[in-house]
Parts: sequence; C-alpha cells; structure tokens
Amino acid sequence: MLPANVHSPAFFHKRLRRALKRLGASRAYDISSFGKIGAFDLYYFCKPEKIDPDKKNILIAGGFHGDEPAGSWGIVRFLETANDADLNGANLCFLPLVNPTGFASNRRENDWHEDPNQGFGTDGKTPSHEGLLLLAHLDELLKAASDGFLSLHEDPEVQKGYVWTNEPAEKAPTAFTTGLRDVVSRHFEIFSGDMPHRGGSFEIKDGIGFNCVDNSFESLLIKNGVPRAAATESPADSAVPVKERIRCNKDLIRAFIATPSMNRGKIC
Ligand SMILES: [Zn+2]
Repeated sequence: MLPANVHSPAFFHKRLRRALKRLGASRAYDISSFGKIGAFDLYYFCKPEKIDPDKKNILIAGGFHGDEPAGSWGIVRFLETANDADLNGANLCFLPLVNPTGFASNRRENDWHEDPNQGFGTDGKTPSHEGLLLLAHLDELLKAASDGFLSLHEDPEVQKGYVWTNEPAEKAPTAFTTGLRDVVSRHFEIFSGDMPHRGGSFEIKDGIGFNCVDNSFESLLIKNGVPRAAATESPADSAVPVKERIRCNKDLIRAFIATPSMNRGKIC
C-alpha cells in the first residue's frame, strides 16, 4: 500500500477488482454501477453472484467521507486476505467507495460540498449526489443489509478510535457493540467523552456511541428494519500510520461478520 496512491480512485478500483478476481470460484462477485459521480464512470456495488438464502446478509460500506481512506482500503485488505470461511459464512455485499470525488481530493465532502452521509433524516437536509443514488437503490441495499450494516469511517480530528452502533432492540450495548470497540482498542487508544456531532454533541462512553439516531445512512437503514448497524471510527490524524488504520478496518470487518449472537433480521 503506497501512501502516494492512497487517495487515487483509479488505483483503488484496480486493487479492488484484482482482490475480487483473486477470490475466484470460492466466491464470485458481480460489480455493478449505481450511476455516475462526477468524472467517475462507476459507482461500485459488489454482490456475490450466488446469494444463499440460509446465510446472513451483510452490507459493508467504506469511503462516505473522502478524508477517511482506511475504511475503503480495509475492504480491499479484507478481500485480499479472506479465507473461504470468511467469505462463505454470510452473503457479503460491499459499497467500497461511496464518495470518490472527496476521496480523490482528500476532502470530507464531495465535489459539490455535500456530506454524503447526511440528508437521510427529517431535519430538512437534502441528500447528496451519492445519497440520491443510494436512495434510488434502497430496496436492494436493504436486502443486502437485512442482517446488519457496517460503515467504515475514520475521524481525522483525533488520535483515538471509537464506534457508533445501533442495536434498536437493546437498551445497552451487547457483545456485538463491545466486540467492535474491542477490535479498535487492539489497534488504538479508545476515546471517551463528548463528541461534537451534527451541530450538537453526543457522549461516547468507553469508546461507544450507542443508539444515536441522526440523518445518516445507517440511521435510515435502522429506521427501515435493519436490526443492527455500526459506523466505526479509526483515527485519521496525520500522525497515525495509514497501514495500521487499514489493518484495524480489515479486522473490524472480520469481527462484524463473525458476531456469534447475530439473530436474523426480518427484511426479506
Ligand atoms: Zn466519516
């Protein structure tokens, strides 16, 4: 992984295609386009060719924010290192790079100065270019996430990590949430305290922001019946090596899909 190429969508998509090709017959993937984002031809959605109805359906996204590259690269690293059990334990779909124009510019927002992870609530904010494409394919994404949604983020403002999780059936974090926080803690110090969030603040307790409902894409999925979601935050401060951040995101994917207590969702 060369730091000079970390923010190149072309290099990223080349590595992503190569990683998917490596899977071969063990888990063949279709790559489809949801539409165009600016100069970028494709907006990738990666889905197994064969969906097994007896297995969990999990959607994993990276790169909602362009200055948080280790989530997207964590997906590639996961695919490069995954074994058959990782790949065949669930139907894993990926949205590997949601905001390619922001990614190319190392900037949180897209080329239209929109935040692609806002505009999905009732606060009057309108969806971004990317958000409109996600909403146009919402039914397919809800099926892909019917047992869980993982959105890999980073926080460029801090040198510590934490997780946001939604478990709408629970009043306190379960092993699903603490397991993800524990993965982050194996790589970085854990953040605790009030975190500025969407114009207000939200208390992160021992690395966990629990059941926060806002105008994000993960909140939209939860409102539509997805039983659990996580938006994880590795530290993207420039002093934190990107390779370690990528390893953390790869490990978060493995932990998410291995959640032992994961009951099936009800979306079909
Ligand atoms: Zn983010």
